[in-house]
Amino acid sequence: MRRNFLKLINLSIISFIILPYKFLYSQTKKIINKNLTKEQKNILFNEGTEKPFSSALLHEKRKGFYHCANCGNKLFSSDSKFDSGTGWPSFSEALPGAFKTKIDYSFGMKRIEYHCAVCGAHHGHVFDDGPSKTGKRFCNNGLCLLFKPSE
Ligand SMILES: [Zn+2]
Repeated sequence: MRRNFLKLINLSIISFIILPYKFLYSQTKKIINKNLTKEQKNILFNEGTEKPFSSALLHEKRKGFYHCANCGNKLFSSDSKFDSGTGWPSFSEALPGAFKTKIDYSFGMKRIEYHCAVCGAHHGHVFDDGPSKTGKRFCNNGLCLLFKPSE
């Protein structure tokens, strides 16, 4: 009985912590680019994932910067892009302050989800198995990115 009671107390403490955060987080997400496709919106605002090997940006080798498809925030330099073989555009580091992160427990896994620091839109997950000196691998949905070549 006492144990159940404690469990209940624990649960309410957890929801007290999580619910306002979830509320605030959903409040910060907003559609800025009115031309986003249905698929883009599903990834950016419902944390969807595009099909692997479907992004044309996988083969993008030019110098330039990758921006948020929703708000235009500058996220990655082409210098940090590498071929991870996973089927999603991958980067060893993001530009300073480009993203915020949260822990994502969906699909029975513990992953670090990251979202645009300006508009809150979901972009991908970051892993600690990158090949470069940062050790990071930002696994980004190509549909969330807009590439602007330097030249
Ligand atoms: Zn954004």
